[in-house]
Amino acid sequence: MPLVINDEYPKKLFREDGKRLDGRDKTELRPIKMEVGVVKNADGSAYLEWGNNKIFAAVYGPRDVHPHHLARPDKGILRVFYRMTTFSVFERKRPAPGRREKEISMIISDCLEPVLFLELYPGTSFEVFIEVIDADGGTRCASTTVAALALADAGVPMKSLVTSVACGKIDGELVVDLSGIEDKAGEADLPCAMTWFNNELSLLQFDGDMTLEEIDSSLDLATEALKKIYDMQVTALKKKYLDIQEGTAQPESNENGGEE
Ligand code: UDP
Repeated sequence: MPLVINDEYPKKLFREDGKRLDGRDKTELRPIKMEVGVVKNADGSAYLEWGNNKIFAAVYGPRDVHPHHLARPDKGILRVFYRMTTFSVFERKRPAPGRREKEISMIISDCLEPVLFLELYPGTSFEVFIEVIDADGGTRCASTTVAALALADAGVPMKSLVTSVACGKIDGELVVDLSGIEDKAGEADLPCAMTWFNNELSLLQFDGDMTLEEIDSSLDLATEALKKIYDMQVTALKKKYLDIQEGTAQPESNENGGEE
């Protein structure tokens, strides 16, 4: 059951024992699981569970650009389509992509582009389709993280992975990885993303109230959390190849339904 009913948020976001409502410490991430190679028809794909968020990302490309007029003669283009399913949130979401989904698609594209060598692929596009199946706060960060993993799984040349997490402030305290309820009822939300080849932020958004010192401290907390998530991304990528090496990978079925 969701914690919010008729837009009434809990009065406190910390429990008596000092833990957050979901039992986490201030700097603790929600449980995260990642897997690559989950969509057979895609060039690369990944699936992520991050707390209650469940998200698929599928990558296609380099391939022809449709509509053709979007193609660029000097470089490839990256197109990101972030979508939330109608059943991914408690209150029914309209099926048509809204302004928020278009904005988040653009943000994710801007986050990922710095790590790609698009200049090597003139006239073509890479398309990243992101489907949020279940949403509970921080989906733009989780989507960026899983999209980077899917690009790597597709074998797209990359300078590094990209990892994203949100920090924020709830009941006057700085915390890492806001859940949906913390995002809505808290004082501030600061999603950020790191490109590891240059250790720079390719995303920094801010919504709410924080002092400059609090923003600095939040970014320190975010950096620690980002390193942990990055390690999980690398482990997920390696696992696919270790499974193949050890013969434990799931066999892919061919078009006639038989195993290849
Ligand atoms: N949300 C919702 N309905 C919507 C959009 C968002 O219930 O139409 C929820 C969802 O759980 C999402 C959270 O609100 O994760 C926070 O949304 P926000 O726009 O801040 O983006 P996010 O934190 O997911 O990146």
